[in-house]
Amino acid sequence: MTAQPDARSDARPPDAVDAGVAARLDDVRRRIAVAAERAGRSRSAVTLVAVSKGFGVEHVVAARRAGQADVAESRAQELRRKAREAGPGLRWHFVGRLQRNKVRDVVGLASLIHSIDRVDLAEAVADRARRASRVQRVLVQVNAGDDPAKGGCAVDDTIALVARVRALDGIACQGLMTVPPMDVDPRPVFARLRDLRDDVRSRFPEVQHLSMGMTADFETAVEEGATIVRLGEAVFGPRPPAA
Ligand SMILES: *Cc1c(COP(=O)(O)O)cnc(C)c1O
Repeated sequence: MTAQPDARSDARPPDAVDAGVAARLDDVRRRIAVAAERAGRSRSAVTLVAVSKGFGVEHVVAARRAGQADVAESRAQELRRKAREAGPGLRWHFVGRLQRNKVRDVVGLASLIHSIDRVDLAEAVADRARRASRVQRVLVQVNAGDDPAKGGCAVDDTIALVARVRALDGIACQGLMTVPPMDVDPRPVFARLRDLRDDVRSRFPEVQHLSMGMTADFETAVEEGATIVRLGEAVFGPRPPAA
């Protein structure tokens, strides 16, 4: 006889997942603290967001059990599904490319959308948020490494885009985000985003956050001023190949 799986037992992580995620989170938190210390920054100035894309919801639940509240997805459908299955006690972030026809799935559910890179997308998000009587917090994604393969607005267009976004009701731009190109030294890219943030912030003081740094480069990002790091494999282990 086989037990009928129910939603609760499905979401309950196997002990090995629990232990693995908890141990990796410990390690990552320590490495963030060390990098912050090295740069003379406060550990509390850096928020860790655990990116669960490619991992099952049991990994998300394991992270929450280990005290990790901020989690992220890069696809609207996955965000909806995992948010529903994992239940309360999490703050979801959206870090992927956002299509206008997916805006309704993300607005309200995501506490922070990291990937606003054009005016029409900001307008769609603001419109949806207004209808729901919300203010959606967002970051503007910048292509700070001038990588043709990456999303994000051009560095030179950033101030104008932020100005357009902040003029809309229903949306609040609170910082900048970037993903550096694959095979370059990320440090100058991170430094460039920080300088740009400083410039934008001098005009628009609410633009504070720097979302930068992934598994391969988060310590460098923290040294260069990241206030949010987005970590997948460092928290959850090697990502299973896409089905
Ligand atoms: C997948 C992803 C991450 C996390 O990547 P890792 O290399 O697993 O740390 C961070 N940011 C974005 C935008 C992503 O798509």
